Amino acid sequence: MNFKAHEAAATGTDGGLTGSSSPEEPGGKYAKRALPPDCDAPDPDDLRLFRFLSIYYPLTDPADWNDWRWQMRNGVTTAAQLSRFMELTPSEAEALARLKGRLPLRITPWYLSLMTGRGAGHPLRRMMVPTLEELTTRPEEKSDSLNEEGSSPVSGLVHRYPDRVLFLVTQVCSAYCRYCTRSHSVGRLAHAPRLQWEQAIEYIAAHPGIRDVLISGGDPLTLTDTQLEYLLSRLRSIPHVEILRIGTKVPVVMPQRITPELTALLERFHPLWMSIHFSHPEEITRETAAACARLAGAGIPLGSQTVLLRDINDDPQVMRSLLHKLLQIRVRPYYLYQCDLVPGTHHFRTPVSHGLEIIRSLRGFTSGYAIPHFVIDAPGGGGKIPLLPEYVREITPEGIVMNNYLGETCFYPGF
Ligand code: SF4
Repeated sequence: MNFKAHEAAATGTDGGLTGSSSPEEPGGKYAKRALPPDCDAPDPDDLRLFRFLSIYYPLTDPADWNDWRWQMRNGVTTAAQLSRFMELTPSEAEALARLKGRLPLRITPWYLSLMTGRGAGHPLRRMMVPTLEELTTRPEEKSDSLNEEGSSPVSGLVHRYPDRVLFLVTQVCSAYCRYCTRSHSVGRLAHAPRLQWEQAIEYIAAHPGIRDVLISGGDPLTLTDTQLEYLLSRLRSIPHVEILRIGTKVPVVMPQRITPELTALLERFHPLWMSIHFSHPEEITRETAAACARLAGAGIPLGSQTVLLRDINDDPQVMRSLLHKLLQIRVRPYYLYQCDLVPGTHHFRTPVSHGLEIIRSLRGFTSGYAIPHFVIDAPGGGGKIPLLPEYVREITPEGIVMNNYLGETCFYPGF
């Protein structure tokens, strides 16, 4: 729902309004709230958001709700705040009480609106709210499991592959995913210091073999437009940098950030690509679709990156639904990752064979554009390794014997 489109003057609280969780709602400052759309059959998502806003943010100005800075400022970061939106399970409450020194809690009000009232097992809640399982580290799980620090010539830059680098420009995200590969570093500090940026940019400028810079973090779209403009200008001025890429989850957890001003800024730095972190079909809302439409409209090719997560998206029907919805919003499924060996993530991992079965259930049965590369990012820093179900049965001097998607034997003659 475009909140603004449905705003209306109201006289304050009424029977359905139970108060606000927003520290920026002093009470009486704002006299507006959302009303449901004027139509006979309102969209269920619109109604859900309307109810959520009526209960939890009755006095919030629609302009504030639709402002990404307000969403950032009002992120839920404590158990006490979260318990105003949902009854915490004992496991969640204890995990939150023992979170000190670990990946912090942060959920945008927008993303909360998608999970509130949906039960403790709701997939979006499971991805954002810690449970006791997160406090157990298995022997195979390592902090910095991809050994990014071992491939880091200067702070905040990972140079693992010959022609491209990963530039970690911030440690801040608008929402923290409990399975985050960089849970050892994100959420600890604010944005990387300018000096660190300068050292990374100098390194890129001094290495003519680098033709591709992936700007990530944390989430780069938590930077202001001014900061992004500076960063992109500096990188674009390096002659051998051919393409820029941004890795982000912001269009999913804070679609308000994708403003016309931002897209106008980004399109000045083409060729610029974007990888968006989607996990579940219920993340694809009208707002996120509109944000992606704005990005695509600015000529930015959009891809998705998805982590395979047990009981969240490892059901073939759920995954297929996600992939189909992504194509509908002009996002090309790019990578499906086996969950990295990050401390406290055992409960999220699903067998690799399960991922292969999902790919097998897709290949041949749906559009090729809908099928991501299933990869393992090799522990210790070996890089991404593609995984495919076995289709080749035999290669002989006469040719290649293969199974097609239906399991039928096919032969292609050799030369
Ligand atoms: S948005 Fe990305 S960097 Fe931030 S917590 Fe989630 S996975 Fe980690």
